[in-house]
Amino acid sequence: ERSLAQAKRRRSEQDRADAEPTPVAALARELDRALERDELLLMYQPKVHARRHEISSVEALVRWQHPERGMVLPGEFIAAAEEAQRIDGLTLWTIRRALRDQMTLRAAGWDLRIFINISGQLLSNVHFVETVCAIVEDTPDAKLGFEVTETSVIRDPECAITNLNRFDAIGVRISIDDYGAGLSSLAYLKQLPARELKIDKLFITHLTSSNRDPLIVRSTIDLAHALDMEVVAEGVETGATLALLTVMGCDTVQGFFISRPIALDALIDFLRHDDTQRATRESRVSVMRLAN
Ligand code: C2E
Ligand code: MG
Ligand code: MG
Ligand code: MG
Repeated sequence: ERSLAQAKRRRSEQDRADAEPTPVAALARELDRALERDELLLMYQPKVHARRHEISSVEALVRWQHPERGMVLPGEFIAAAEEAQRIDGLTLWTIRRALRDQMTLRAAGWDLRIFINISGQLLSNVHFVETVCAIVEDTPDAKLGFEVTETSVIRDPECAITNLNRFDAIGVRISIDDYGAGLSSLAYLKQLPARELKIDKLFITHLTSSNRDPLIVRSTIDLAHALDMEVVAEGVETGATLALLTVMGCDTVQGFFISRPIALDALIDFLRHDDTQRATRESRVSVMRLAN
């Protein structure tokens, strides 16, 4: 009797699904179409060395140029893409596009590592991991980094650590994103092959007006350095924040004060204005001013 009731319920769920697609199913179809029609695009946000003011790398951030809704930010579709099992295709697209843009940058004279955000569920997706390794190994001079959150490692730590080690072994730099905002476990931090730690903007936005944030940031920088990791502060919006982070020994900064995420051609313009290769101290400072 019970199984009959279950079957009935299943059937009525199925009827509903046929009648009107669930939001997730609809989004899955929309994302497939978006990939076919090339509606996704990448913006790049520079990561800048705090003292030398050189651009050390860039982070790729995806956007969806939607035919009706206009520019859609990742906050509105990444979680749904994960739920709809479309995050692997989306991320492979992102990696391929980033590698293509890296060649364009190189042809224009800049050899920059490009960081990609990787969802936690992909760290246990064998097909994804194999495909990424094949792409990277087939691309001479691929210089990538993957930003992962600690929370994403905690789902299946053993598997995540194994795959992060594989990425590290083929030259992909691992960065811990949003550090301090999720489930921070020092036990995992110790085991990850991460070369970089990004302090969440939660601790950076009010750095110069808060009593506690500077203490947290300072000790996080010291911890990361003790573990031989480079420290990035995200969400740097003012010169005062940049100055304080520099005094605290933070290696790299990223945020609207330096540059918003920008399209590839705007990035090339930004780099052209950046004279750091032969720069005097003054022109380096001007790179920072360019942002305002
Ligand atoms: P995230 O990786 O932590 O990226 C930082 C976010 O903060 C970006 O938002 C960036 O535009 C924004 N941001 C940068 N500087 C500042 C600042 O100075 N102040 C403030 N208030 N915000 C700043 P965005 O581009 O909307 O991306 C949001 C999140 O979406 C990212 O957080 C990342 O987790 C995810 N994401 C973006 N692209 C991808 C992707 O290709 N794949 C996956 N799986 N996730 C992505
Ligand atoms: Mg990131
Ligand atoms: Mg972040
Ligand atoms: Mg974030």
